[in-house]
Amino acid sequence: MKIQAVEAIYLRLPKIAARTDSSQDALIVKVTTDSGIIGWGEVDGCPTVAKAIIEAPYSHTLVTGLRELLIGEDPLDVTRLWKKMYDHTLYYGREGAVIQAMAGIDIALWDIKGKALGQPIHQLLGGAFRDRVRVYASNMFQFTPEATAARAKKAVDEGYTAVKFGWEPFGRDPQTDLRFLEAIRRATGDAIDVMLDVGLIWDAKTTIRRARLFETFRLAWIEEPLHPDDLDGYARVARAVETPIAAGEEECTVAGFTRLMDIGKVDVVQVDLTRCGFTQAMRIASLAQQRGLPCVNHNFTTDINAAASLHFLAAIPNAFIMEYCVEPSEISRNLARNPIKIEGGIARVPSEPGLGVEPNPEIIDKYLARS
Ligand code: MG
Repeated sequence: MKIQAVEAIYLRLPKIAARTDSSQDALIVKVTTDSGIIGWGEVDGCPTVAKAIIEAPYSHTLVTGLRELLIGEDPLDVTRLWKKMYDHTLYYGREGAVIQAMAGIDIALWDIKGKALGQPIHQLLGGAFRDRVRVYASNMFQFTPEATAARAKKAVDEGYTAVKFGWEPFGRDPQTDLRFLEAIRRATGDAIDVMLDVGLIWDAKTTIRRARLFETFRLAWIEEPLHPDDLDGYARVARAVETPIAAGEEECTVAGFTRLMDIGKVDVVQVDLTRCGFTQAMRIASLAQQRGLPCVNHNFTTDINAAASLHFLAAIPNAFIMEYCVEPSEISRNLARNPIKIEGGIARVPSEPGLGVEPNPEIIDKYLARS
């Protein structure tokens, strides 16, 4: 079997709000083989940059577009092809956008491998520790405590047992923050796990003060309070507070996650499959397990990411919950023609060959960015 085509498909809502909300567009990767098997992947990065990295022509041995490197290759050689892409992008890669683009291709190659061998991806990763994963409903903060509480109530009414809110306008001043958290707790009651995603805006001392102020809300974790480069700050926070600290979505390499765990001392390791790919994610989860840390996914895009996350979380021993974006974007909500199944806040791990999720051509056609 040989790779015939690699396409980067950019989908975008007609109106994009100025928010930290990556559910408003998507970059879908389609890898076509000469056997007729098609693999699907996704990149949650800068969509047009990832598309350019995939489509770039050959410049020289260390500066090559990813598509060029893959045409004619055997798609089952996922680890060898990861190394080939890494080595032929060294001058502009090694971190960030190139690795994220490679991750989208890696997911598509695993999808092909699963379809070719008639096995779900989690089976190829070593087998499932579980066939269901508890899910938390992941939300943006709304602009008032009341509207945010309504989102929390909706999640609980839909059967979720855990809910997260993140980013603006949270974090600017402690009194406003308390109003948001009180409203959320009133809406959820005490039995629901509540996570807080701060959005990178505090320093270490502010985080320590706020974490102590918020202890009464028994937050399941506080996510990304600090700038991702402030690893010493993360370590100071970890030493000072009881509430678990989660981070990782800004990282896309094994080296980056190793720094986050060993210098930043985070408690919960968050891996986005559409930035790391399965090939790196399994190594990251293993490094987390060695350190006694739980590993979870990050997912604020489509059901391709959600399905990839489920295979990953099924196949690692140290998983405990899955992020599922509940923002109303139709790209995020309805891309898949066979979406993942969540009931009572529990997701079923797909058992079909490959990812088990395929994009709906009508949604691709409707939101394809044509400019
Ligand atoms: Mg986050």
